[in-house]
Amino acid sequence: MGVSDHFGFIQGSPLNNRMIINTHRIKVFIDFDGTITKIDTGEEIFRRFGKQPDADRIIEDIREGIITAKEGWVRLFASAPDMTIKNIYSIMDDIFIDENFVEFHQLLKIQNIPHFILSDGFENYIQFILQREGLQDIPVFSNRLIESGSNGLMPQFPYMDEECRDCANCKRDHIIEQSGDEEFTVYIGNGSSDTCPAQFCDYVFAKDDLLKFCSREKVTCFSYNNFADVQNVFIQLLQRKRLKKKHQAVLKRNEVYKLG
Ligand SMILES: [Mg+2]
Repeated sequence: MGVSDHFGFIQGSPLNNRMIINTHRIKVFIDFDGTITKIDTGEEIFRRFGKQPDADRIIEDIREGIITAKEGWVRLFASAPDMTIKNIYSIMDDIFIDENFVEFHQLLKIQNIPHFILSDGFENYIQFILQREGLQDIPVFSNRLIESGSNGLMPQFPYMDEECRDCANCKRDHIIEQSGDEEFTVYIGNGSSDTCPAQFCDYVFAKDDLLKFCSREKVTCFSYNNFADVQNVFIQLLQRKRLKKKHQAVLKRNEVYKLG
């Protein structure tokens, strides 16, 4: 990351000598596992400490949408009663983040663009990784794990939506609560828990299963491999005179308002 001054110049980086003056009101929502991290932490935990082949089958069923994420997490933890928080922390050295994410976060900070992590994983390991990477100032909305004596680890879902039980953590609700109708929303994700929230945002960055979903359902998106790709396109967006609200996203949002 290069040194930046208060005009938004970033020196010694790909943004060198390019002044960006962001005049847009933008909010950015970012998935965690497989998007910020290179591999899915939740899946890796069960690959190492879960009961096989049950764990792999449950993970596949969540991915395919055969069972909900909440049901999946409850089954996964119930199938591994000996698992501890220590087990989870023991794999943290093998969980790496995208090499360009820190720079992207710095860009958003310099440009005063609020950004949030929305995860269907667990805050226990998310906060651990964010602290390690110096990213603890990013707000996180996720599920959490508590140790429950003989029952092992118990997942808790503080952000479950009673009306829509598809996801354990309702990412859609966070987007609606954290952004106004006049603001431009950006979503960056990779998996099945991102398919719903992506439809509520004006600009979508997608890879893996989310990209497949967007192609199939004709949700306009930018395809990306890493945060260097995201940042390049994002800078072009910032430099546009005007951004556009996505009609389909506005309609989806209005539907939720009508339901109250
Ligand atoms: Mg993900």
